[in-house]
Amino acid sequence: METHQAFFRFYEELNDFLPGYRKMAEFPYPFTGNPSVKDAIESIGVPHVEVDLILADGKSVGFAYKLRNNERISVYPVFETLDISDVQRLRASPLRDPKFILDVHLGRLAKYIRLCGFDGRYEKDLTDREIVAISLSQERIILTRDRGLLKAKNITHGLWIRSGKPVEQLREVMKRLDLVNKLQPFTRCMECNGEIVSIASEEIKQQLPERTKEFYMDFRRCTLCGRIYWEGSHFERMKKFLDNVILSVSGK
Ligand SMILES: [Zn+2]
Repeated sequence: METHQAFFRFYEELNDFLPGYRKMAEFPYPFTGNPSVKDAIESIGVPHVEVDLILADGKSVGFAYKLRNNERISVYPVFETLDISDVQRLRASPLRDPKFILDVHLGRLAKYIRLCGFDGRYEKDLTDREIVAISLSQERIILTRDRGLLKAKNITHGLWIRSGKPVEQLREVMKRLDLVNKLQPFTRCMECNGEIVSIASEEIKQQLPERTKEFYMDFRRCTLCGRIYWEGSHFERMKKFLDNVILSVSGK
Protein backbone atom coordinates (compact mmCIF):
# COMPACT_ATOMS: atom_id res chain seq x y z
CA MET A 1 0.00 0.00 0.00
CA GLU A 2 1.18 3.49 -0.74
CA THR A 3 2.48 5.56 2.17
CA HIS A 4 1.20 9.11 2.57
CA GLN A 5 2.02 11.73 5.14
CA ALA A 6 0.25 14.52 6.93
CA PHE A 7 1.91 17.27 8.99
CA PHE A 8 0.82 17.62 12.61
CA ARG A 9 1.26 20.48 15.03
CA PHE A 10 -0.04 20.32 18.60
CA TYR A 11 -0.74 23.40 20.69
CA GLU A 12 -0.48 24.43 24.34
CA GLU A 13 -0.55 21.68 26.96
CA LEU A 14 -1.14 18.95 24.36
CA ASN A 15 2.64 19.07 23.96
CA ASP A 16 2.91 17.42 27.39
CA PHE A 17 2.06 14.14 25.68
CA LEU A 18 4.72 14.37 22.99
CA PRO A 19 8.38 13.39 23.01
CA GLY A 20 10.86 16.27 22.93
CA TYR A 21 11.49 16.33 19.20
CA ARG A 22 7.78 16.67 18.47
CA LYS A 23 7.00 19.38 21.03
CA MET A 24 5.87 22.79 19.71
CA ALA A 25 6.88 21.85 16.17
CA GLU A 26 5.34 20.60 12.98
CA PHE A 27 6.25 17.00 12.24
CA PRO A 28 5.38 14.52 9.48
CA TYR A 29 3.03 11.65 10.25
CA PRO A 30 3.24 8.80 7.72
CA PHE A 31 0.13 6.73 7.14
CA THR A 32 -1.29 4.07 4.87
CA GLY A 33 -4.93 3.39 4.08
CA ASN A 34 -7.66 5.65 5.39
CA PRO A 35 -7.14 6.56 9.07
CA SER A 36 -9.35 9.11 10.82
CA VAL A 37 -7.71 12.13 12.39
CA LYS A 38 -8.80 10.73 15.79
CA ASP A 39 -6.88 7.48 15.17
CA ALA A 40 -3.80 9.46 14.17
CA ILE A 41 -3.97 11.70 17.26
CA GLU A 42 -4.32 8.69 19.56
CA SER A 43 -1.49 6.80 17.89
CA ILE A 44 0.74 9.86 18.34
CA GLY A 45 -0.02 9.50 22.06
CA VAL A 46 -2.46 12.31 22.79
CA PRO A 47 -5.76 11.23 24.44
CA HIS A 48 -8.62 12.48 22.28
CA VAL A 49 -10.55 13.86 25.27
CA GLU A 50 -7.84 16.47 25.74
CA VAL A 51 -8.53 17.78 22.24
CA ASP A 52 -11.19 20.37 21.53
CA LEU A 53 -10.45 21.71 18.07
CA ILE A 54 -8.82 20.28 14.95
CA LEU A 55 -7.98 22.25 11.83
CA ALA A 56 -7.15 20.50 8.55
CA ASP A 57 -5.50 22.99 6.21
CA GLY A 58 -7.13 25.73 8.25
CA LYS A 59 -10.66 24.33 8.21
CA SER A 60 -12.21 22.83 11.34
CA VAL A 61 -13.01 19.13 11.13
CA GLY A 62 -14.47 16.45 13.39
CA PHE A 63 -12.78 13.37 14.85
CA ALA A 64 -14.06 11.12 12.04
CA TYR A 65 -12.35 13.20 9.36
CA LYS A 66 -10.08 11.08 7.12
CA LEU A 67 -6.47 12.21 6.73
CA ARG A 68 -5.34 13.29 3.28
CA ASN A 69 -1.90 13.33 1.78
CA ASN A 70 0.25 16.41 2.55
CA GLU A 71 -2.40 18.02 4.71
CA ARG A 72 -1.49 20.26 7.66
CA ILE A 73 -3.30 19.30 10.86
CA SER A 74 -3.41 21.68 13.85
CA VAL A 75 -4.67 20.27 17.13
CA TYR A 76 -5.82 22.44 20.07
CA PRO A 77 -6.65 21.52 23.65
CA VAL A 78 -9.80 22.07 25.68
CA PHE A 79 -9.39 25.72 26.37
CA GLU A 80 -12.54 27.60 27.21
CA THR A 81 -11.03 31.06 27.20
CA LEU A 82 -9.89 30.92 23.59
CA ASP A 83 -12.49 32.43 21.29
CA ILE A 84 -13.08 29.75 18.73
CA SER A 85 -16.84 30.09 18.60
CA ASP A 86 -16.92 30.50 14.83
CA VAL A 87 -15.41 27.11 14.15
CA GLN A 88 -16.63 23.63 14.84
CA ARG A 89 -16.02 22.40 18.37
CA LEU A 90 -15.62 18.68 18.79
CA ARG A 91 -18.29 18.42 21.45
CA ALA A 92 -21.94 19.35 21.28
CA SER A 93 -22.06 20.52 24.88
CA PRO A 94 -19.23 22.70 26.14
CA LEU A 95 -18.16 22.48 29.74
CA ARG A 96 -20.73 24.81 31.27
CA ASP A 97 -21.82 24.08 34.81
CA PRO A 98 -19.09 21.49 35.13
CA LYS A 99 -19.45 18.36 37.25
CA PHE A 100 -16.59 16.01 37.97
CA ILE A 101 -15.65 12.47 38.76
CA LEU A 102 -12.17 11.94 40.18
CA ASP A 103 -9.94 8.88 40.11
CA VAL A 104 -8.71 7.14 43.27
CA HIS A 105 -5.49 9.19 43.44
CA LEU A 106 -7.26 12.53 43.72
CA GLY A 107 -8.99 12.46 47.11
CA ARG A 108 -7.55 15.75 48.30
CA LEU A 109 -8.37 17.47 44.99
CA ALA A 110 -11.96 16.21 45.32
CA LYS A 111 -12.25 18.13 48.61
CA TYR A 112 -10.90 21.28 47.04
CA ILE A 113 -13.26 20.94 44.08
CA ARG A 114 -16.18 20.74 46.53
CA LEU A 115 -14.83 23.68 48.51
CA CYS A 116 -15.15 25.69 45.29
CA GLY A 117 -18.80 24.65 45.11
CA PHE A 118 -18.47 22.17 42.25
CA ASP A 119 -20.06 18.76 42.22
CA GLY A 120 -17.08 16.42 42.64
CA ARG A 121 -17.83 12.73 42.90
CA TYR A 122 -15.09 10.64 44.46
CA GLU A 123 -15.19 7.10 45.77
CA LYS A 124 -12.10 5.12 46.68
CA ASP A 125 -13.24 1.80 45.28
CA LEU A 126 -14.41 2.72 41.78
CA THR A 127 -12.80 0.82 38.91
CA ASP A 128 -11.69 2.60 35.73
CA ARG A 129 -14.63 1.09 33.91
CA GLU A 130 -17.09 2.41 36.51
CA ILE A 131 -15.53 5.88 36.36
CA VAL A 132 -16.02 5.95 32.60
CA ALA A 133 -19.61 4.70 32.89
CA ILE A 134 -20.49 7.34 35.53
CA SER A 135 -18.83 10.05 33.48
CA LEU A 136 -21.02 9.19 30.50
CA SER A 137 -24.32 8.64 32.27
CA GLN A 138 -24.02 11.72 34.53
CA GLU A 139 -22.09 13.95 32.11
CA ARG A 140 -19.18 14.34 34.48
CA ILE A 141 -15.69 15.44 33.49
CA ILE A 142 -13.13 12.81 34.42
CA LEU A 143 -10.13 14.11 36.36
CA THR A 144 -7.33 11.57 36.45
CA ARG A 145 -3.61 11.12 36.95
CA ASP A 146 -3.72 8.08 34.66
CA ARG A 147 -3.69 9.06 31.01
CA GLY A 148 -4.45 5.48 29.98
CA LEU A 149 -7.89 5.96 31.51
CA LEU A 150 -8.61 8.79 29.07
CA LYS A 151 -7.98 6.61 26.06
CA ALA A 152 -11.23 4.69 26.41
CA LYS A 153 -12.92 5.31 23.06
CA ASN A 154 -16.29 6.51 24.32
CA ILE A 155 -15.18 9.19 26.80
CA THR A 156 -16.24 12.70 25.87
CA HIS A 157 -14.94 14.90 28.70
CA GLY A 158 -11.74 14.37 30.63
CA LEU A 159 -8.57 16.04 31.83
CA TRP A 160 -5.22 14.47 32.58
CA ILE A 161 -3.92 16.08 35.77
CA ARG A 162 -0.20 16.81 35.44
CA SER A 163 0.84 17.74 38.95
CA GLY A 164 1.17 15.44 41.95
CA LYS A 165 0.45 18.29 44.38
CA PRO A 166 -3.21 18.89 45.29
CA VAL A 167 -3.03 22.70 45.33
CA GLU A 168 -1.28 22.69 41.98
CA GLN A 169 -3.92 20.27 40.68
CA LEU A 170 -6.69 22.66 41.68
CA ARG A 171 -4.90 25.45 39.85
CA GLU A 172 -4.62 23.27 36.74
CA VAL A 173 -8.32 22.49 36.69
CA MET A 174 -9.39 26.09 37.35
CA LYS A 175 -7.08 27.44 34.72
CA ARG A 176 -7.69 24.94 31.96
CA LEU A 177 -11.47 24.99 32.30
CA ASP A 178 -11.60 28.70 33.09
CA LEU A 179 -13.55 28.16 36.30
CA VAL A 180 -12.65 31.25 38.30
CA ASN A 181 -15.91 33.01 37.49
CA LYS A 182 -18.01 29.96 38.22
CA LEU A 183 -16.97 29.38 41.82
CA GLN A 184 -19.60 29.18 44.55
CA PRO A 185 -17.44 28.59 47.61
CA PHE A 186 -18.93 26.98 50.72
CA THR A 187 -22.06 25.63 49.07
CA ARG A 188 -20.97 21.99 49.11
CA CYS A 189 -19.78 19.62 51.82
CA MET A 190 -16.06 18.89 51.54
CA GLU A 191 -16.54 15.48 53.12
CA CYS A 192 -19.43 13.98 51.15
CA ASN A 193 -20.19 16.31 48.20
CA GLY A 194 -23.70 17.05 49.56
CA GLU A 195 -25.24 20.50 49.24
CA ILE A 196 -25.02 22.85 52.20
CA VAL A 197 -27.99 24.96 53.29
CA SER A 198 -28.45 27.65 55.97
CA ILE A 199 -30.22 26.65 59.13
CA ALA A 200 -31.43 28.44 62.25
CA SER A 201 -29.04 28.05 65.21
CA GLU A 202 -31.95 26.93 67.45
CA GLU A 203 -32.27 23.80 65.37
CA ILE A 204 -28.79 22.60 66.21
CA LYS A 205 -28.05 24.22 69.58
CA GLN A 206 -27.51 20.99 71.48
CA GLN A 207 -24.94 19.79 68.96
CA LEU A 208 -22.63 22.79 69.33
CA PRO A 209 -19.81 23.57 71.78
CA GLU A 210 -20.68 26.41 74.22
CA ARG A 211 -18.25 28.96 72.85
CA THR A 212 -19.30 28.34 69.28
CA LYS A 213 -22.90 29.04 70.22
CA GLU A 214 -21.89 32.36 71.75
CA PHE A 215 -19.70 33.64 68.95
CA TYR A 216 -21.38 32.60 65.74
CA MET A 217 -24.78 33.26 64.26
CA ASP A 218 -24.69 31.77 60.79
CA PHE A 219 -24.83 28.02 60.56
CA ARG A 220 -25.15 25.73 57.61
CA ARG A 221 -25.77 22.04 57.40
CA CYS A 222 -24.95 19.43 54.81
CA THR A 223 -28.18 18.00 53.43
CA LEU A 224 -26.54 14.62 52.92
CA CYS A 225 -24.33 13.80 55.93
CA GLY A 226 -25.61 16.37 58.43
CA ARG A 227 -22.22 17.95 59.11
CA ILE A 228 -22.51 21.48 60.48
CA TYR A 229 -20.47 24.40 59.18
CA TRP A 230 -19.95 27.84 60.63
CA GLU A 231 -17.61 30.73 59.95
CA GLY A 232 -14.95 29.80 62.48
CA SER A 233 -11.19 29.55 62.15
CA HIS A 234 -11.36 26.60 59.75
CA PHE A 235 -13.65 28.66 57.51
CA GLU A 236 -11.21 31.58 57.61
CA ARG A 237 -8.29 29.33 56.69
CA MET A 238 -10.17 27.82 53.77
CA LYS A 239 -11.27 31.23 52.55
CA LYS A 240 -7.69 32.48 52.58
CA PHE A 241 -6.52 29.32 50.81
CA LEU A 242 -9.11 29.79 48.06
CA ASP A 243 -8.37 33.50 47.66
CA ASN A 244 -4.70 32.66 47.11
CA VAL A 245 -5.50 30.02 44.50
CA ILE A 246 -7.86 32.37 42.64
CA LEU A 247 -5.26 35.11 42.70
CA SER A 248 -2.53 32.86 41.30
CA VAL A 249 -4.81 31.53 38.56
CA SER A 250 -6.19 34.86 37.38
CA GLY A 251 -2.85 36.63 37.86
CA LYS A 252 -1.39 34.91 34.82
ZN1 LIG B 1 -21.78 16.12 53.90
